[in-house]
Amino acid sequence: MAEVAGEPHVLIFPFPAQGHVPTMLKLAELFLLAGLRITFINTERIHRRLLLNSPTLPPLARLPRFRFRTIPDGLPEDDRRASVPLQELEESIRTRSREPYRDLLAPAGRDPDEWPSVTCVVADGSLPLSWEVAEEVGIPVIFFRTSSACAFWAYYRIPDLIKGGEIPFPEEADWDEKVRGVPGMESFLRRRDLPSFCRNAKTTSDRGLQSVDNATASTRRARALILNTFESLEGPVLSHIRSAIPITYALGPLHLLVKTFENGGSFVTINSVRLSQEDRSCMTWLDSQPPRSVVYVSFGSVAVMSREELMEFWHGLVDSGERFLWVLRSDLVEGKTGEAVPAEAEGTRERGCIVGWAPQEEVLSHPAVGCFLTHSGWNSTLESVSAGVPMICWPCFADQQINSRFVSDVWRIGADMKDKCERSIVEKMVRDVMVRERAERLRTSAMEMAELARRSVAKGGSSYRDYWSLVEHIRAISS
Ligand code: UDP
Repeated sequence: MAEVAGEPHVLIFPFPAQGHVPTMLKLAELFLLAGLRITFINTERIHRRLLLNSPTLPPLARLPRFRFRTIPDGLPEDDRRASVPLQELEESIRTRSREPYRDLLAPAGRDPDEWPSVTCVVADGSLPLSWEVAEEVGIPVIFFRTSSACAFWAYYRIPDLIKGGEIPFPEEADWDEKVRGVPGMESFLRRRDLPSFCRNAKTTSDRGLQSVDNATASTRRARALILNTFESLEGPVLSHIRSAIPITYALGPLHLLVKTFENGGSFVTINSVRLSQEDRSCMTWLDSQPPRSVVYVSFGSVAVMSREELMEFWHGLVDSGERFLWVLRSDLVEGKTGEAVPAEAEGTRERGCIVGWAPQEEVLSHPAVGCFLTHSGWNSTLESVSAGVPMICWPCFADQQINSRFVSDVWRIGADMKDKCERSIVEKMVRDVMVRERAERLRTSAMEMAELARRSVAKGGSSYRDYWSLVEHIRAISS
C-alpha cells in the first residue's frame, strides 16, 4: 500500500485488561468507519486470548486500514497466572516494553506494511508507557480514560485533596463525613465514596495514590481527552472537567454508539471480539424465566472476594426468594484459582443459573433481567444504564466507590451496598430493588436514563456530535 503524506494514522494502545481492550476496540471501529487508519497495540498475552476467543478476528485482521501489532508485557513466558495484579502488570510493561513500543512508533527503516507514519496516539490514561514514549518521539497524544467522568474528576482533584488535608484520611475520621475538595460534589460525596486509593493511603507518598496522581497529571498536558460517558448522565461533571481540560469529548456509551453505525449498514466486526469464552447456556435459561424476575450478579473481570463474602451473597440471594444468574469466575474467590462452584451453590440450580463468564451486554438487555448486582465497574455500570436495568452496587476498588454513589444518590437508579456484606442486607436490597415500592421508582428512572443514552448516540445526539468533532480534530492534527 503506497504511503499517503499527511494521512491520519492513529495508534491505539490500551491497558491489557478486560475493562480496557474491548472498549478501545470499539473506539477503533468508530475511527475505521470514519476512514482513519488504525494500528492497535496489544500485548502478546492479551492478543493470544483474543485469538483464542474471537472467531471473527482473522477477517478483522485483513481489513485494509486496520492492523494489530503486539509487544511483550515483560512478564516471564511461563507465567500462567489467571490474573496478574494490575499494578505489577503496568510496572512490567513500563520497564520492559519501552523499546519494542518505541520501534513501533518510530520504525528505523520502512514500515513493514509501507504504512504512513503514526500521526496521533490515543493513549490509555492507565498505561503511562503509552503516552510517555509518544511524547518522547514528538507524536501528538489524545488521552482515553476508561473510568467515569465523576471518577476522573475526583482523581484530578487529588493534589487539592492532599493540600486541603482531606487525604490521607485523618486518624479516626468519620467516613460518612462529606468531602469538600471535589467541586460540584460537596453535597453528597462522602469520604467512603472517594476512589479506593484515597481510603488506602496512609501517607501522601502512598504508591497507589502517587501513581493515580501521576497518571492524572499527564492528562493535564493532553491535547484532548476522550471519556466513555454522555452529557445527560454526567453533564455537570463534564463541565468541571472542561474548565481544566477544555477539549474533552464524551462519546459514550461507546457500545451503543458503535451500534448506531451498524444500523446504518457499515458494520466492521470489531464489536464481536472476545477476551473470554462466554457460556451462552445462560441465555437459554433466561428465555424460560418470567419478565424482570432475575437478579444478574457479576463482579467484573478483576474483583476478588473472600469465601465468607461469597457465602453472604449466596445466602442473601437465596433468602430473597428471587431467581438469579450469577457469574462465578474461577478466580473470584481469594486464593481459590481454578476452584469450581462451591458445593453450597451446586445444590440450588433450580432457582439460579451459574456460569463462568456471560455475554453481559446481551444478558442485561434480556427482558427476564430485573436488576444487576454489580461491583460498579464503569463498563458494567454503563451497560446497565444503557439497558435500563436498576443496580445494587457492591464496589470493590478504584473508581467503583464513586460510581456507586452516583448510581444511588445522583442518578437514583440503584442502591449502594458499599462496605457492607451481610446476608440480611443483601436480601433486603434485592427485595427493595426487585419488588418493593422503591423498585418501581428505580425502574422508571433507569428506563428514562436508558432513553437518554439512546438519544445521545443517535444522529444529532451529544455523543454522536462529539465523535465527529473528534474525527475532525484528529484529521487537523495529522495534516
Ligand atoms: N463482562 C462480560 N461477561 C461477564 C462479566 C463481565 O462480558 O461475565 C464484561 C462486561 O460486559 C464489561 C467488562 O466485562 O464490559 C467488565 O468491565 P468493568 O469496567 O465493569 O469492570 P472490570 O472488569 O474492569 O473491573
